[in-house]
Amino acid sequence: MSANLTALAYLIASVLFIMALRGLSSPESSRSGNVYGMIGMAIAVITTVINPEVVSYTWILTAMVIGGAIGAIIARRIAMTDMPQLVAAFHSLVGLAAVLVAAAAFYNPAAYGIADADGVLKLASRIEMGIGVVVGAITFSGSIIAFGKLQGIVTGNPIVFPGQHAVNALMGAVIVLLVVLFAIGPESEWFWGMTLLAFVLGFLLIIPIGGADMPVIVSMLNSYSGWAAAGIGFTLENTALIITGALVGSSGAILSYIMCKAMNRSFISVLLGGFGGDTAVATTRSDKPVKSGSADDAAFIMKNASSVIIVPGYGMAVAQAQHSIREMGDLLKGHGVKVTYAIHPVAGRMPGHMNVLLAEANVSYDEVFELEEINSDFSNTDVAFVIGANDVTNPAAHEPGSPIAGMPILDVDRARTCLFVKRSLSPGYAGIDNELFYADNTMMLFADAKKMVEDIVKAL
Ligand code: NDP
Repeated sequence: MSANLTALAYLIASVLFIMALRGLSSPESSRSGNVYGMIGMAIAVITTVINPEVVSYTWILTAMVIGGAIGAIIARRIAMTDMPQLVAAFHSLVGLAAVLVAAAAFYNPAAYGIADADGVLKLASRIEMGIGVVVGAITFSGSIIAFGKLQGIVTGNPIVFPGQHAVNALMGAVIVLLVVLFAIGPESEWFWGMTLLAFVLGFLLIIPIGGADMPVIVSMLNSYSGWAAAGIGFTLENTALIITGALVGSSGAILSYIMCKAMNRSFISVLLGGFGGDTAVATTRSDKPVKSGSADDAAFIMKNASSVIIVPGYGMAVAQAQHSIREMGDLLKGHGVKVTYAIHPVAGRMPGHMNVLLAEANVSYDEVFELEEINSDFSNTDVAFVIGANDVTNPAAHEPGSPIAGMPILDVDRARTCLFVKRSLSPGYAGIDNELFYADNTMMLFADAKKMVEDIVKAL
């Protein structure tokens, strides 16, 4: 393939990636967005593999077969609710790849076409490599900790120690110094020094993050992995990788910004790994009595209501109750009840989790509203039907010092009656008790979400 044809193919792939991102911005167009992304990736991979500069296909094909097989098995087996940890694990691989490619290019710059006439790494490549390897190493270790927290292997509570920010700042300064020293003279001490320190910094940046703030971290590491990939693109002088990395990096940064706004966090403090540090997790359970009801009670209350807002959360995803919920909504509409859905931006375990599930169950998009669009409606609503959601409704967000302090919540308690479907009084992801379970206008419906909704459907 000539250089011009390669450039053209990469350009087409990049345009398809941009169309993929455009498509993924709405549930209606997300399927076509995925298709564009897959076609673009196929073009990029094929173009790269049939490059005449490839000297041996043995390693490439072996890696593709092993990696492809592992990827296919994981993709078939993974539960939708485990997606964030899978994404975090994949980010760590991108970071590690950036470090390994940089190391290979560092030890053999001539093979990568980035050596000067004397066989020494060129200045521009030293700068790109230094930045790329640092971002890659931070992404690698940060993503491993994020994976551990999301998987429950590492505690979801913030891990803090005195002087943490000063230590991070000092490490950051030493890393910058090492990048500069590496740019001046590409010695292996500087290369491995900055790489190892960046590994440690990635670890330190993520350990103080509290459970409820993980959505922001996942999208931030997504952004870092994009910049790490762009860094590899510069080292390999591969335009498709530079553009793809930049697209992932910038879209991840935009998503992080949106998540920060949703969580009421400062973007800068997230970038510096600063928040969640001094919060203690309260898990005290109230001794107050709770009112609990049956599916028949819930069906009776909702059938006689004029409006119901359904608030889905992580438990709906676990129980896979979205189809039954749509059925329940349709039956209620048949009884003349106005049914709408309220989506909190961090409900579930990944951005857009609830939108995806409701779209899968064919819930009409014009019945689905974001927090800021619907929150004021709760006070004029008869029933808030909260299914498997907890933190996103928890008024503890109004208390300074709480792990979710400052996060906007769905004001479900303003509805005349609030029905909570969950299996117990256990807290949600942030690990804090929810006082709404004990409120006068709350009725708890203790059961698996799918089972309870199916019973309500029968009763209706
Ligand atoms: P929560 O995690 O706060 O609560 C979910 C509730 O669902 C639990 O209290 C649980 O109670 C209940 N539940 C679990 N399984 C079932 C089941 N089979 N049937 C019925 N109920 C069930 O979920 P929210 O959606 O309200 O909040 C999301 C949380 O996750 C936030 O803290 C957010 O920050 C965090 N997060 C979000 C991410 C994102 O990108 N959206 C990523 C990472 C974290 P019980 O055990 O009693 O049934």
